[in-house]
Amino acid sequence: MRKVGQPLPDPSGLLMASKKIAQGLLPEQDLLSEEVFFQAVEHCPVAISITDLKANILYANRMFTQVTGYAMEEVIGKNESILSNHTTPRLAYQALWGRLAQQKPWAGMLLNRRKDGSLYLAELTVAPVINDKGETVNYLGMHRDCTEIHQLEQRVLNQKAMIEAVINAAPE
Ligand code: FAD
Repeated sequence: MRKVGQPLPDPSGLLMASKKIAQGLLPEQDLLSEEVFFQAVEHCPVAISITDLKANILYANRMFTQVTGYAMEEVIGKNESILSNHTTPRLAYQALWGRLAQQKPWAGMLLNRRKDGSLYLAELTVAPVINDKGETVNYLGMHRDCTEIHQLEQRVLNQKAMIEAVINAAPE
């Protein structure tokens, strides 16, 4: 068993192994264990949540707890809408749910609210989890706090606008 913190195997090697297993060239026990998958998601540096079809949270990883301020046990069974600041236009949510209904992912920015009430800009991707029969069985949410990057971008844009204004106002 691989211990937490130990480096994961090279992904290209894993891909080769799964292909060989699919072709019957390698025994199935060479597949990654469920534990490795769990630890990879648990320690992923992106806030990850898995929900039922109504967006009720069934699982949230460590980064989710870190970004939102909610402990895992506080969010289990709660709807993802606890993160909503209720200022995002309804159209954005309709687009999100529309894509999921088509079994397609949706990506965009939402204004989220942490447990302590503070706001952050979430770069969110949601995707359907589809089973072997082609049915959507769960939803996967992945987001990161991009407030700082957004503020930096705004600052750069403001400075650019200011420099342009100064240049335009300068006598030829
Ligand atoms: P809602 O009652 O959710 O309604 C908003 C719109 O969505 C309506 O048009 C409604 O018809 C539609 N809708 C809602 N539920 C369903 C459904 N089960 N099937 C089809 N259509 C539906 N929201 C955030 O604000 N921040 C997040 O970080 C976030 N992460 C999410 C992660 C995942 C995996 C999923 C599936 C959803 C996530 N959402 C997130 C969306 C969230 O579930 C809510 O839809 C949203 O927060 C709006 O909540 P509301 O109570 O204001 O409105």
